[in-house]
Amino acid sequence: MGQSEYDVARLTVRLGAIQENYRTCARLAGHAAAAGVVKADGYGLGALQSTRALLAAGCDTFFVARLEEGIAIRPVAPKSRIFVLDGARAESVPALVAHNLTPVLNSLDEIALWSAGARGRDAAIHFDTGLSRLGLPPSELAILAAETGQRLAGINLVLVMSHLACAEDPASPMNREQLSRFRAGLAQLPPAPASFASSGGIFLGEDYAFDMVRPGIALYGGNPQAGKAMAVAARLTGRVLQLRRVDKGESVGYGATFRVERPMRLATVALGYADGLLRALGNRGAGAIGGRKAPIVGRVSMDLMTLDVTDIPALAPGAEIELLGDTILLDDVAAAAGTAAYEVLTRLGGGRVARVYEGTP
Ligand SMILES: *Cc1c(COP(=O)(O)O)cnc(C)c1O
Repeated sequence: MGQSEYDVARLTVRLGAIQENYRTCARLAGHAAAAGVVKADGYGLGALQSTRALLAAGCDTFFVARLEEGIAIRPVAPKSRIFVLDGARAESVPALVAHNLTPVLNSLDEIALWSAGARGRDAAIHFDTGLSRLGLPPSELAILAAETGQRLAGINLVLVMSHLACAEDPASPMNREQLSRFRAGLAQLPPAPASFASSGGIFLGEDYAFDMVRPGIALYGGNPQAGKAMAVAARLTGRVLQLRRVDKGESVGYGATFRVERPMRLATVALGYADGLLRALGNRGAGAIGGRKAPIVGRVSMDLMTLDVTDIPALAPGAEIELLGDTILLDDVAAAAGTAAYEVLTRLGGGRVARVYEGTP
């Protein structure tokens, strides 16, 4: 939904913060190149705008999940390498070729398809090292390793990659385990640039950087590890529709899940789960006015939510409330809702919230 003078809910995207976060990731990656992951409409913040901002910050390689996402950003990044994580299917080969998109091949079948259908063209190979999600399983990697000459004929291998399962937890033994599996796999394949680290992996140290890192959430302000302060890139605000006093004994919201224990002042804000505000934040999250926090009381409903503003004086209908931003931090929102920063952000895209961009890419 576009910007209009009537917009009550806004997602303000700070392109400068995305650029700053990109530079932070690139610096941490040392000699490795830093790509930008702009899948899921740039984690809900806008794939086209994020891609332009990243390009201006020096990024020239992008990752998307879907073919359509690659086609969508191609016009704004005409010369960049764009990897499609979903891989290649018979139906998608012509479009991959037409838009000069580089598939990340995830199985022997996909490798055979690309080798036959896109002779000599670039591709990446993804093999699984413990996530058991996408990429060649160990059995297929062994076959590929034994028959590289034949199976990779006609493919210009530009990247070999894998993905970490527990990168946000530096203490997890999974990280080292996957690292040794990744190294063993690379040793069996023809030499090619390697990529292993997403945002979390970047903070695990240089061992994990290889030739290219693939940050996503960190670009958009999510902190892979506590205390690593990425710049705030997204600010969600809504407006107060109504203020009311409630007395001890009354209840707030659907299901009467909040019982009033003392006289309170409540602000009803025009933001609900249909705007992407997670319903799980009911009775758990908070909003902020002028840097002061106010707890969410009662359930978040479709169009509305209610804040306890008893301790915040001089509030009037129309006041702007922050639900995500500099005071209400992304990672805190995710923790309060029992989810990940990824879900908090991606829910905000495409709904009723107007996206407003600050900074010129
Ligand atoms: C989404 C994704 C990334 C980016 O991950 P973040 O945790 O957001 O940095 C990197 N690589 C792959 C394979 C992905 O699916």
